[in-house]
Amino acid sequence: MVRTRNAGTMTESAFWSFIRSALRQKSRWWKPITQCKQKARLPYKGPNKRQKFEYQCKYCEQWFPEKRVNVDHITPAGTLRSAADLPGFVERLFCEIDGLQVLCSNCHDEKTKLEKL
Ligand SMILES: [Zn+2]
Repeated sequence: MVRTRNAGTMTESAFWSFIRSALRQKSRWWKPITQCKQKARLPYKGPNKRQKFEYQCKYCEQWFPEKRVNVDHITPAGTLRSAADLPGFVERLFCEIDGLQVLCSNCHDEKTKLEKL
């Protein structure tokens, strides 16, 4: 393995996964992601006193607590393995609200699995 990045401490692939995770972290404060989640939620009226909202999954249309849903990129951000992947990756990751949907953990896992095929 040749360590060409970060003062000789990082391989090319370690470097790109480092950039990828930095960008993904920033996308957590991306407003369309927050708005997408707010649009999918309603005040929770069930027995759990601590739960304020529930969120509807776009696929199965069931309702879930916040920790069981994800904001999904309808077009996946995809891989980031080289500088050539960067423009497309950034465009897809930081998309507007029409490129996003709320999915429950199960549906999100299913979608991710299918995308990998
Ligand atoms: Zn679902």
